[in-house]
Amino acid sequence: MTLAICIKCGSRKISACSQCDICGHRSVDVEDLARSMYLSDNCQPPKELKDASRQIKQGNFTFEDRHVARIVAELQEQAALVERLRHSKPFGLPLFLRAMLLVVLITWLILMLWRTLTEP
Ligand SMILES: [Zn+2]
Repeated sequence: MTLAICIKCGSRKISACSQCDICGHRSVDVEDLARSMYLSDNCQPPKELKDASRQIKQGNFTFEDRHVARIVAELQEQAALVERLRHSKPFGLPLFLRAMLLVVLITWLILMLWRTLTEP
């Protein structure tokens, strides 16, 4: 269970990615998502979150750009990783080829051994 604060209205919600029950805001773009993550207990102690919540409700909360920018970078890195994994070839094929190569090698070794043993 995570604790997060809605970046629009300052209400409590259960996670950074979930929709706000109060104002209906849901973070979709990466910057909003980063701000939402910043205002969750993954990034802040509960006390800070409570302060942020109060400030948002009063309308005088400002995000620290460098913190948000760091989370944006992390999210983008992860997105790139997910994208790379999605487009990479199935893992089974190279493994299958390697196994085939191993079988051929072992067969060849046995054949060589057999020839050496049966040689007059
Ligand atoms: Zn809200």
